[in-house]
Amino acid sequence: PAVLADGDTGTGGDDADDARPVQPVLAVVGRPNVGKSTLVNRILGRREAVVQDVSGVTRDRVAYDALWNGRRFTLLDTGGWEPDAKGMQAAIAAQAETAMRTADVILLVVDGQVGATAVDEAVARTLRRSDRPVILAATKIDDSRGEGEVASLWRLGLGEPHPVSGLHGRGSGDLLDIVLDAMPSSPRDDVDLEGGPRRVALVGKPNVGKSSLLNQLTGETRSVVDAVAGTTTDPVDSLVEIDGETWKIVDTAGLRRKVGQASGTEYYASLRTKAAIEAAEVTVLLLDASQPISEQDLRVASQVAEAGRALVLAMNKWDLVDSDRRHAMVRELERALVRFPWVERVNISARTGRAVQKLAPAMRTALENWDRRVPTGQLNQWLSEVVAATPPPVRGGKQPKILYATQAQNRPPTFVLFTSGFLEAGYRRFLERKLRETFPLIGTPVQINVRVRE
Ligand code: GDP
Ligand code: GDP
Repeated sequence: PAVLADGDTGTGGDDADDARPVQPVLAVVGRPNVGKSTLVNRILGRREAVVQDVSGVTRDRVAYDALWNGRRFTLLDTGGWEPDAKGMQAAIAAQAETAMRTADVILLVVDGQVGATAVDEAVARTLRRSDRPVILAATKIDDSRGEGEVASLWRLGLGEPHPVSGLHGRGSGDLLDIVLDAMPSSPRDDVDLEGGPRRVALVGKPNVGKSSLLNQLTGETRSVVDAVAGTTTDPVDSLVEIDGETWKIVDTAGLRRKVGQASGTEYYASLRTKAAIEAAEVTVLLLDASQPISEQDLRVASQVAEAGRALVLAMNKWDLVDSDRRHAMVRELERALVRFPWVERVNISARTGRAVQKLAPAMRTALENWDRRVPTGQLNQWLSEVVAATPPPVRGGKQPKILYATQAQNRPPTFVLFTSGFLEAGYRRFLERKLRETFPLIGTPVQINVRVRE
């Protein structure tokens, strides 16, 4: 049987047809020991729940993909930390603030056996300011006897307290129904990958000019930063016309909400970025041309490649770069971006509108190549020429033979090489380089997998 040796070409194995929508986020907040983790496990442990750890999360916050009644959402478990009594008030206040800024729905968990403590009251006071729906759960109500006590939680001013037992599951289904009712519908759920406007994610560090660019593109004069009130009714995405074509910019609600501007929310911002990248077909990564490129920028570029999405780099604030610096700057950039020689760069100014119209052709090219299908005949013609000129290195005394190649998938182009032996990573990278020299693949990651025929 064929053995699949995964090509480590820097792109992940994600199925591009499986593009997920930006999911609404449910944050679970509450004091330590009230039963948050138990409840979260109960929610995720259900047969319908799909659990997936999001990589790169901090120790004290864990995000999961959850599924209930056919709806997907991201569940943030803010439990796990153990601040001392003095620090607790501050820690939980920060937790609530973060949830208010970034989640779509907040679940406040209170210990139903203990009732509301002073800390619970303080958190409730904070959460009452929230423009997101807040749902109150009273945990540890394992049977009907405890339910009488729950009524006292009305005084937290967050509406009806919902009794639940995370341990036994009692009431958890009803609670989830209520949570999902409160969530904004994600309109993208039913969007067909093949049809409709192409989806674009606009990502980049805080202050790089994302909202300015969005303003330029949507032609709005009002500041998107001000559009916070009533965000629950804001569309998640915006349709914009660029260069005579309609595009869908995903998660503009997130941009409008300025996720990640305040301290302590980098994690949520990166979660949102990841979701936006995955919901989009092409990502425009904004870089500040007046600053050196950062690790964080490179990480996001890698994320796009790993998600198997098309990528365009927009060098924003080009107006701030002195004309005599430009040459040196481009050289520095090229050094920093050695791993992404396939990405097209566009120099723009979101403030002045300079060259913003160049974005659309770059996005179009990237998507065209992302969609590309190389005919098998052409592919194998190319392969035989390349291999004849530069055969794969001998390994373990044997010369691996490349039998043939096919393109298994597009979006992004994914190739499979059938071989008689293992191909070294270096040779696979060489093949990718050669492939890109022959076929137009600017703007898209490609994946090369190797199947060894024993
Ligand atoms: P967290 O710190 O808020 O995440 O709380 P945990 O989920 O770790 O729970 C704290 C303690 O309460 C643990 O000993 C749990 O077993 C217990 N607990 C949690 N949920 C329930 C429940 O529904 N009923 C009962 N009786 N105990 C619970
Ligand atoms: P965001 O946090 O990525 O949404 O960034 P903003 O759009 O809010 O921009 C942050 C700051 O950079 C604002 O003061 C903008 O006016 C400024 N800015 C954005 N784009 C440009 C640009 O192309 N040139 C210059 N000079 N400033 C810009």
